[in-house]
Amino acid sequence: MSANLQNPIFTDETAARAHLEAVRWPDGPICAQCGNADPKRIAKVEGEKQSHRDGLYYCNECKGQFTVTVGTVFERSKLPLSKWWLAMHLMAASKKGMSSHQLSRMLGISYKSTWFMMHRIREAMKVTGGAPMGGEGGQVQADETYYGNTSKRSKSYRKGLKRKAVVVALVDPHKGEVRAFHMENGAGVDVVRDVLVKNASRKSTLVTDESLLYTRTGKEFADHQTMVHSGREYVNKDGFTTNNVENFFGTFKRGMRGTYHFCGEQHLQRYLDEFSFRYTNRSGLGIGDVVRAEMIAKGAEGKRLTYRRRY
Ligand SMILES: [Zn+2]
Repeated sequence: MSANLQNPIFTDETAARAHLEAVRWPDGPICAQCGNADPKRIAKVEGEKQSHRDGLYYCNECKGQFTVTVGTVFERSKLPLSKWWLAMHLMAASKKGMSSHQLSRMLGISYKSTWFMMHRIREAMKVTGGAPMGGEGGQVQADETYYGNTSKRSKSYRKGLKRKAVVVALVDPHKGEVRAFHMENGAGVDVVRDVLVKNASRKSTLVTDESLLYTRTGKEFADHQTMVHSGREYVNKDGFTTNNVENFFGTFKRGMRGTYHFCGEQHLQRYLDEFSFRYTNRSGLGIGDVVRAEMIAKGAEGKRLTYRRRY
């Protein structure tokens, strides 16, 4: 792991807050209420009484107060920011994910708090409003997989709930980006088309297996290349492959089985966001653990969590 765990941001609250400010506000504080970023119109609230919250700023435009955590997944958390930084570094660095039990022990906080914290970090990892994948001369690989615990010992199996969740993933092999989606109502031609056209540029070459899910939509793309999976074809005659998207599914499934021991369908999208984040920002692309954790902190913006209880 390339993050130096002796770094004060993991132990000292003032350093942790200063680091979050530096990452979120490289050009100085920005008011969370009105967007004012004029340093002459923003004042740090300081005083000897210490009656105010740490890192509090006063905005002269809207006469409001704010801190660096307002409007992020860190807002209203009772956990110190130093623990958040440590959790973000560990989750960013663990290729197969990290169990809540293990992280709870490493952070010295309760399992329940850790569990909520990790889901907030997954929310911060989620890509929102990214540019279309592929593009002219580019390609997008798409594939679907089925996810679920079909062990005959599991509760849901005994209840007769053998339905598996459907996941569709898209990979842009040139940019090294993946986006994965839990298809809550199953995968039909129209919902899969929706995912494809919303995320991929139709100027790209679409690369899929021969599933009928893609046949009609494939005609909307500049080109549609297919692979014969039943024939164990790994590269088709024109040199196209769906290996990248299959590798992503492999890493996801191994991590879910080995580290998370499966999850309920209601949380599946968050785990997909976690694995997609690490795939897209992996070290093979020259991104280290430190930068990856800082990217999570940047992604924490505008994502207040909906959990009712405060941890
Ligand atoms: Zn303001």
